[in-house]
Amino acid sequence: MLYSKLFGKTSKTAPSDTYSANARLLTQAGFVSKQIAGVYNYLPLGLRVLNKIQAIIREEINAVGGNEVLMPAMAQEENYAITGRDKMDILFRMTGEGGTKLTLNPTHEEIVTPLVQKFVFSYRDLPVAVYQIQNKFRNEPRAKSGLLRGREFNMKDLYSFHANEGDLNDYYEKAKEAYFKIYNRLGLGDITVLTYASGGVFSKYSHEFQTLCETGEDTIYLCEKCRVAVNKEIIDEQKVCPACGNENLTEKNAIEVGNIFKLRTKFSDAFHFTYKNEKDEEKLVEMGCYGMGPSRIMGTLVEIFHDDNGIVWPESISPFQIHLLPIGKDEETKKAADKLYKELSGKGLEILYDDRDVSAGEKLGDADLIGIPTRMIISKKTLAQNSVEIKKRNEEKAELVEITKI
Ligand code: ATP
Ligand code: MG
Repeated sequence: MLYSKLFGKTSKTAPSDTYSANARLLTQAGFVSKQIAGVYNYLPLGLRVLNKIQAIIREEINAVGGNEVLMPAMAQEENYAITGRDKMDILFRMTGEGGTKLTLNPTHEEIVTPLVQKFVFSYRDLPVAVYQIQNKFRNEPRAKSGLLRGREFNMKDLYSFHANEGDLNDYYEKAKEAYFKIYNRLGLGDITVLTYASGGVFSKYSHEFQTLCETGEDTIYLCEKCRVAVNKEIIDEQKVCPACGNENLTEKNAIEVGNIFKLRTKFSDAFHFTYKNEKDEEKLVEMGCYGMGPSRIMGTLVEIFHDDNGIVWPESISPFQIHLLPIGKDEETKKAADKLYKELSGKGLEILYDDRDVSAGEKLGDADLIGIPTRMIISKKTLAQNSVEIKKRNEEKAELVEITKI
């Protein structure tokens, strides 16, 4: 991609109304543009990152048998009256044709339960798992931390349906493993911990995946030995590490990047979603739900991986793999950079090529801000040695590499 042709540019001044590193850096580097509080436009750079996060999630959820669907963003408010969740403060309401009461879905249990009900009749139809990657709408009271808390935000939500509790429990453990694989691939594995949180009516606990981060708005109590934590909201009931009984838990700030629940029969009961077992008896379907926020993860990555000069993307989700920077106005440099861009692009590498006629300082500053992990500088000086200079965004040292060896 030629930087001169890329829609969305860096900006030297920080937006005045941002309170968090992710909002400031993503805006200044040209990844997102704020619409209103908690609602963002994704520009090409930002969309590439979001797409890569979603692709990793999709692969791992497919690997545990998730069927991808796309449910609607809007629905009839009636479905929420059935479960009593029409009273949620965060629900966005609208009036449709003929006065019908509509909502923008804040989550999809009320949609997915009756949907799957249309296709499941017998124990032979179970288990089944469906998921989507879709935007959610919540009228969050505090939407000040950029992508971390959106009013419109992206979520991967997986729902599993089972004939009995044992089968739900087995699937729940598989989903947990898939979640850790995802955080590992996103570069967050070492700092993301399984956290026990309140389980609601049917289960003692739900499990959150909390990424340790100074600026996180959640408080958790971490067992340093097991790397398992307890959310502050249940610390009164659960004062020790649930894994080893250790009483010395450390208070930490964290960001909730995922949350999984055993819903059991809460929703199947509300919608009378039953199936016939082997003995032809009618039984309620057991359900689990598994949420994860790609847009919040994008914000989290920036909160964790940045320095004074800008973002430092992990390789796996960087918008491009290489930032190619010709320095100097001579023809020879430009020609060599053009050639390298064509050759490397042809090999399938994702290159952002800064082809602008601006100063070296501006190019280097923008490269730091945008945060692509590998920078390739080509200039008269490097060409004198038939080389380019390669530098990692997170390292000080640069090395000269012969062009023919790239
Ligand atoms: P929180 O406690 O942070 O408000 P939640 O428990 O209500 O979140 P869930 O309904 O469990 O969130 O949603 C699943 C996942 O979706 C969360 O783990 C998080 O990653 C993401 N998410 C939830 N709310 C938001 C939001 N307002 N903006 C961005 N991502 C969100
Ligand atoms: Mg949650």
